[in-house]
Amino acid sequence: MKRLTASLLTLCLLGFGITSAQADDPSAGSSGMGDPYFPSDGNGGYDVQHYDVAHRVGVGGGSLTGRTTFQAHSLQALNRFNVDLMLKVSSVKVNGVPAVFTKDSAHELVITPATPIPDDTDFTVEVRYSGKPSTLSWKGERPFLRTKGEMMAMNEPQIAPWWFAANDHPRDKATIDVRITVGNGYEGISNGRLTQVVKGKKWTAWQWRSAEPMAPYLAFFAAGDFAFERGTHNKIPTFNAVSKKLSKTQQMRSLALLRRTPRVISWLETWLGPYPFTAIGGVTTAIRTGFALENQTRPTYPYAGGAEGDWLVAHEIAHQWFGDKVSVNNWRDVWLNEGLATYFETLWSDNYGFTSPQQWLRFSWESYDSDDSFWRVRLADPGPRNMFHEAVYERGAMTIQALRHRIGTTDFKKLLRAWVKGRDHGSTEDFIALAEEISGEDLTSFFDAWVRSTTRPARTAANGLN
Ligand SMILES: [Zn+2]
Repeated sequence: MKRLTASLLTLCLLGFGITSAQADDPSAGSSGMGDPYFPSDGNGGYDVQHYDVAHRVGVGGGSLTGRTTFQAHSLQALNRFNVDLMLKVSSVKVNGVPAVFTKDSAHELVITPATPIPDDTDFTVEVRYSGKPSTLSWKGERPFLRTKGEMMAMNEPQIAPWWFAANDHPRDKATIDVRITVGNGYEGISNGRLTQVVKGKKWTAWQWRSAEPMAPYLAFFAAGDFAFERGTHNKIPTFNAVSKKLSKTQQMRSLALLRRTPRVISWLETWLGPYPFTAIGGVTTAIRTGFALENQTRPTYPYAGGAEGDWLVAHEIAHQWFGDKVSVNNWRDVWLNEGLATYFETLWSDNYGFTSPQQWLRFSWESYDSDDSFWRVRLADPGPRNMFHEAVYERGAMTIQALRHRIGTTDFKKLLRAWVKGRDHGSTEDFIALAEEISGEDLTSFFDAWVRSTTRPARTAANGLN
């Protein structure tokens, strides 16, 4: 639709000699970022640089009242644009001036600024809202988590619109400040560094700062009664928290697990180069999520039984490089996140009992028969329903080991370091191109077999399976 408008304009310009200024006539930003799996995620026409989020949450009742102010840069002249937000909106300002707004679906807030925003310009948006995020569902998903005395925003691929006004796609990363105000006796925890705690008579405000740009789904907060400990690792502040709703023994075991984080980071740095962020930590809540998530600088873990579950820490910390530092271009690229995180989880776990990662690969390849449905998931494009299929993790990690065997450990290490150092986003095609550039090999048939086919790769040296 946008393209059609542009070509019509060109025709008009040719036919009627309209001045070029009118080619920049403001128009509406698109309601999505063009991700084939989630067309309404993110929005067109602007790029967010920074979010400032301030909330008051009622931990007991699950309510949230707040505002998001974000600084953005226009990518076209805009007379209207969308923001992703599930909560009920009470006011919107653009550059400090009240703006007209409507909801054209539960997910899309449509904003019409009083004055159009010129192309290539910085502007500020302030949105005020309130609601009970755990009651809100979109396309069958109700991702905001809550239990008695605890609430938490953590999910993938969507969670941001349940608690702040966002351009919710990994392609638009921004820094974020989060202030969570909770009743005294509760803590509000988010990503990054804790910069301030302001205690009032009834309420306490917890102020967090994430200095490095982040994909919106990786921003999180938890509010409840937590025991926490602070420290430093290589001069980077660490912050770990565990829910006081867990038993004393569970709290101790959870803390022991979180304390593994610096050791995992040091080990990963030997593979990947410096840890990419300026804060470290983790949170274990009492909410039974059944999964852990790699929130940037502060993954969340369900209670996993203690330090023996540290493969989970290896997985989530590996994601700080793969998924957080280098994010997917589109959600179909998710195997790059999960395959690499599962690969390093496997290495950290001493190849799950095998003498080498190559032995682990051979065993894994054999353990799924060629007619197993496991091989039918197309890794490079699994479809939105299969984004978190076991194959995305396992076949993903197998692909990575097969690649290491095929190009050799020296080039493999070079590849991973170049991948995480040089970029904030990447696609499967980008990864393949870099692997070919560094190894000097044509890897077309290798990647066809491993990430594009829906059959078991043949057991050949070319497929890294000898
Ligand atoms: Zn993962």
